[in-house]
Amino acid sequence: MERETLEVDVLVVGAGPAGLCFAIDLARRAENANEELAILVLDKAEELGRHQLSGAVLDPRAILEMYPHAAEEGFPIQAKVQEDAMMWLRQNGHNALRGMTCPPQFKNHGNWIVSAAEVVAWLAEKAEAAGVEVYPGFGAASILEDEQGAVVGVTTVDQGRDKSGAEKSSFQPGMEIRARLTVVAEGTRGSLAKKLIEKKDLQRDRNPQIWGVGIKEIWQVEKSLEGTVYHTGGWPLDGSVYGGGWIYGLPDHKLSIGFVMGMDHGDPNFDYHAKMQEWKTHPFLRDLLQGGKMIRYGAKTVPEGGLFSLPQCWGDGFLMIGDSAGFMNSARLKGVHLAMKSGLLGAEAALSALSGHDGVAPGNKLASFDGLFEASWAHEELWKVRNFRQGFQKGFFRGSVNAGLVTLSGGRFPGGKKLLESDHERYRKSTAVADKPVFDGELTFDKLTDVYHSGTVHEEDQPCHLVVLDPDICTSKCTEEYGNPCQHFCPASVYEWQEGALQINASNCVHCKTCDIADPYQIIDWQVPENGGPVYTGM
Ligand code: SF4
Repeated sequence: MERETLEVDVLVVGAGPAGLCFAIDLARRAENANEELAILVLDKAEELGRHQLSGAVLDPRAILEMYPHAAEEGFPIQAKVQEDAMMWLRQNGHNALRGMTCPPQFKNHGNWIVSAAEVVAWLAEKAEAAGVEVYPGFGAASILEDEQGAVVGVTTVDQGRDKSGAEKSSFQPGMEIRARLTVVAEGTRGSLAKKLIEKKDLQRDRNPQIWGVGIKEIWQVEKSLEGTVYHTGGWPLDGSVYGGGWIYGLPDHKLSIGFVMGMDHGDPNFDYHAKMQEWKTHPFLRDLLQGGKMIRYGAKTVPEGGLFSLPQCWGDGFLMIGDSAGFMNSARLKGVHLAMKSGLLGAEAALSALSGHDGVAPGNKLASFDGLFEASWAHEELWKVRNFRQGFQKGFFRGSVNAGLVTLSGGRFPGGKKLLESDHERYRKSTAVADKPVFDGELTFDKLTDVYHSGTVHEEDQPCHLVVLDPDICTSKCTEEYGNPCQHFCPASVYEWQEGALQINASNCVHCKTCDIADPYQIIDWQVPENGGPVYTGM
């Protein structure tokens, strides 16, 4: 197929905090070094920020390194944190841990409550002002490599195929975008990142990545909690699932609430959406939400493995940054500042690898990323919690003791490298079916009502972007061994079982990537659709 070709020096796939901070910083560095670099950022969202979802309480350290006067320059701070506490929930009550009793990782004074979508829109303006081209609405379908295996760009998604894959009259082949350096910054469980990690064996000698699923709603409520940050632990999770909730007070009587659950629980029946709905029925949450209205919904996976799960982030012609690589501190439930910092470190490595020649950025030069990271505060932060998450794979009690030791010893104990098991390897064989949850439509909602509030839309007549590589496994082995967990874990009712047959409602997909990770046989391949996805405003 003849494809239009575009050549740039640096191609960034993904206009999230990591990709945009990388692009801005590289443009600045190139200007200071009198280097001319054509930098292009692509994003699958048709409008920048629309596929961004985070809690989010931002540790401003990285953004202040880039813009010491960010607040004065209009950085979109929704509220500065005024009050924080950890709420330990019991079925009908709670204990508030404030001040000295609040675990240090949940102290948030000095941090900013933000919307990831708004942060991205602000950074995109800065990137364009720095001379970076930013193209929304272009998903990257595949990696291009040269004969030596160096990454030399991407192919974007073909446009104008029908459901069967045939070309419609509007068909436009995807472009080949060739670059001396391709930066993979697609966000959590990036589809290019997954293939690159597998193909180049970038996870060798490291822990596997593990993930959590975060389910978020924004509520309009009667009582303002602007500037308040609460995290919750305990109910409704039993000791078998790692996770907890957040409640962040936004301006205009809005609340960002969400619940994050580790995916390594082993229960094929587990329904992340239903558990988040149950959490809202706790008296503490019920009181906060009383008389209010849910106005937005979304879901996303978060990489939780930490330092030892980071893959090798570089190779000939490529760098991997942000959530795609796993820069996230699950002990603090924070990753945006680390994503930004990984972008800044990547820019420094990139300039030295691109300078002084015209060819592909060599991996041995991009490897300077490792040294820069190890000398940075980002590494210091992740080093201190390098064995935090592992303890919870041994049960809640041992996980809590381990977490206490990690916190009290500043990360010195336990030493060494503790191992992790992949999420999908931990499933227990079971076909028992849990009772169907009941939702009241006021405080708790079914998946379809929630999906409606995510604004998700996809053109129906396009190839299904959820590719089941071996459908026979679904109807035979998976039914017999696990009872088809996809119908439970997807927070958007995409996978439905009707009379023993799988129906995929791809147009509901909120791009959370849970299925790509949680499927026990690893046969679901989430691919970038031609268009569409959630419309996350203010998320
Ligand atoms: Fe998430 Fe997969 Fe469901 Fe889409 S289909 S909403 S990516 S679990």
